[in-house]
Amino acid sequence: MAPNYPNNGTDPYSLPLQGLSIEELTQQLDVMGVPAYRARQIMEWVYQKRVTAWSEMMNLPLPLREKLAATFPLHFPELVTASGSKDTTQKFLLRFSDNEMVETVLIPASPALYGEESDRRTICVSTQVGCAYGCKFCASGLDGFKRNLRTDEIISQVLLVEKESGLPINNLVFMGMGEPLANFENLNRAITILNAPWGIGLGARKITVSTSGLAPRIREFAERPEQIRLAISLHGATDEVRTQIMPVNKRYPIAELMEACFYYTTRKKQLLTFEYILIAGINDQLEQATLLAAHAKRLRAKVNLIPYNKVEGLPWERPSQAAQQTFLRELRRHGVAATIRREKGHDIDAACGQLRRRVQVAGSQVAGRS
Ligand code: SF4
Repeated sequence: MAPNYPNNGTDPYSLPLQGLSIEELTQQLDVMGVPAYRARQIMEWVYQKRVTAWSEMMNLPLPLREKLAATFPLHFPELVTASGSKDTTQKFLLRFSDNEMVETVLIPASPALYGEESDRRTICVSTQVGCAYGCKFCASGLDGFKRNLRTDEIISQVLLVEKESGLPINNLVFMGMGEPLANFENLNRAITILNAPWGIGLGARKITVSTSGLAPRIREFAERPEQIRLAISLHGATDEVRTQIMPVNKRYPIAELMEACFYYTTRKKQLLTFEYILIAGINDQLEQATLLAAHAKRLRAKVNLIPYNKVEGLPWERPSQAAQQTFLRELRRHGVAATIRREKGHDIDAACGQLRRRVQVAGSQVAGRS
C-alpha cells in the first residue's frame, strides 16, 4: 500500500520546499518578516532529520508552521510499486500529483565490482517524464516526451527512496528516465541541493550526469564549479552506426560531441565515461571497437560495455558472450580501461522506462475494459 506522504501541491502560487536553496528560502522568509535562522532550522528538518511534514518541525511555532506550509509545501510523490530486496537492485515506481510516473532505481554495491567491503549504494534518478530523444534501445522514449520534472520532484526521489529502503545513498547517477541536460535548469538546481552541506551533502564526485550527447549543453555544464562526473551514452563509434541507434546524432554528430567532451575534460580535469550498449549485428563489430578505442584514448575515457537488455516491442538482441569478450579485448588491446557491466535487476524491469511502461499499458488495458 502507498504510504501517506503529503502531496498537496498543485497550487501555482506555492513554492515546493525541496526545490529551494537555503539562500532562496532565506530571501522568501525575509519578505514574510521571518528571521534568517528559521531557514537553517527548516533545511535541517528536511535534509538532516528527514521529516516529511511541516507538522513535525517542532521548534517552529504552530502559527508559523501553518503559514509556511501553505506557501512552501513539502511535496512527495506517491509510491506506486517497489520491487527487489535490500541486497539487490530495488526499483521504485513513483507517481506525482498530476498522475505522471517515473522510475527511480537503487543499486547496492556489487562485491564483484567494488569488493566485499564496499558500501556503495547508488541511486539512479529520473529528470523527465518520458523523453524526446527516442534512442532506439530505450523504453523511456517509446511514448514520447511528457514534461520536465521540477527540482523538488528530482530531490524528492532521493528522499523517498532513502526512507523506503532504509539505506542512505552515497552515489547518484542521472541515468533514469529523460535526458538530464534537456532539463538543464532543474538539473542544475537539483545538483546544488544534492551537493550543499545544508542539503543532501553528497560529494560532487559522487554525482554523475549521463547524456545522450547534447554538445552545447555539455560545454555549458562545464562552467559549473564542482567536479561532477559526466557519462556519455555513445553506443556507436561512427556517425552511420550511432545515428541508426540514437537520432540525436543527426543534430550533434560524433565529431562535434567529441569536441564538447574534450572541452569538458580539459576544463574540469575530470575523467569521462563512455556507455556503450552492445547490440548484436548493430554496433558490436570489431571495427567499431577499434574506432571506439581511438575516441576513448583521445579523451582518456573509460568505457562501460553494457550487453543489450531486451526491450518489449524492439527487435534487437544481445551479442553472444564470445562476441562481447572479443569487443572488450579489442578495447583493452589499445590500452583503454573497459569493463562489461552486467545489468542488474534484469528480472524487475530495471532497464530505463520499462516498469513505467508496463504499468501504464496494464492501466490502459484495465481502463479500456471498463
Ligand atoms: S536513453 Fe536517455 S536520452 Fe535516450 S531515449 Fe532513453 S531516456 Fe531519452
